Amino acid sequence: MKSWLIEHQQLLSQQFSRNILPHAILVSGVTGAGKLELAQWLVHLLSCQQPQSINNTVTKHLQSCGHCKSCLLLKSKTYPDHLNLVAEKNSLGVDSIRHASAFLQKTAHLGKFKTILIAHAQTMTLAAANALLKTLEEPSDDSVIILLTNDIEMLLPTIVSRCRVLNIRPNVGQTLLTDISAQKFSGEAHTVMNNGFVNLTQLPELTDKTINKAFQDFKTCYINYLHGQPVESQLLQQLLNNDHALRWLEQITVNLQREQFVTLEKASSQSILSAELLNKLYKVIINGCKVIKSYTQANKQFVCQQLIMTISDVIEASQINKQEC
Ligand SMILES: [Zn+2]
Repeated sequence: MKSWLIEHQQLLSQQFSRNILPHAILVSGVTGAGKLELAQWLVHLLSCQQPQSINNTVTKHLQSCGHCKSCLLLKSKTYPDHLNLVAEKNSLGVDSIRHASAFLQKTAHLGKFKTILIAHAQTMTLAAANALLKTLEEPSDDSVIILLTNDIEMLLPTIVSRCRVLNIRPNVGQTLLTDISAQKFSGEAHTVMNNGFVNLTQLPELTDKTINKAFQDFKTCYINYLHGQPVESQLLQQLLNNDHALRWLEQITVNLQREQFVTLEKASSQSILSAELLNKLYKVIINGCKVIKSYTQANKQFVCQQLIMTISDVIEASQINKQEC
């Protein structure tokens, strides 16, 4: 468990023991903050038939046993008293919420509680949000609804006001780095560590191994592209299919600029990626990202293609300039 989640774990454990756990909990925080990790811990605790208490120098909280019938069913995703609501095509519709309400009206099969987990709660349609509001207004004694969001502003204020809000705030700067390195996570974290700098937008690639792998692949592909290798279609696919890729494009360019600045003294004039070129690229990318964010998925492909072509033009122009010098 990430160190900044422990206080929430302890509070929820106390509320659980005293039977005063809220019926609706909204977990809010940036991507990578550990919202899902905290929610899953709570769902497991609420389902378990023999919760254990953990008491050591770091924490004092409750934990599911991991081997009772409920724990095993939950692990195999067949536990009848828990429901995961998943957004389809970035939108959670009213049918899903109706299904959830019907689920809550039945009595629990095995456990004391029925739990619902709504990830990406900000993707609820207006109709879905209104349907959920009704459910939240008439909570049943044995139900706990957990909503997760990385954009609380997108939720109806009436929904937020009916939930107990847990704001997940990861540590920043050096403290975050120490935490991440304590988890013995390899790869990008170490690179960032050496720079002694980290910011919260980098959390997903620092705390999630799959996302970190995707980040490394993207970085390799982008740098190869900058060096003239024919990886245009790969780059385009990653920009289209990975939600983080646009941010990475910007971030990697900034990092290249930084490296260029640090090594300016030593830099050879033969380097393809001159400071001037990187500045131009950065401007092009910032503009491209702005446009892409304002477009719908249908137009995203066109704008991404254009962005890649512009990057290629900028590189070509800088090489011609260099030859003329
Ligand atoms: Zn158990």
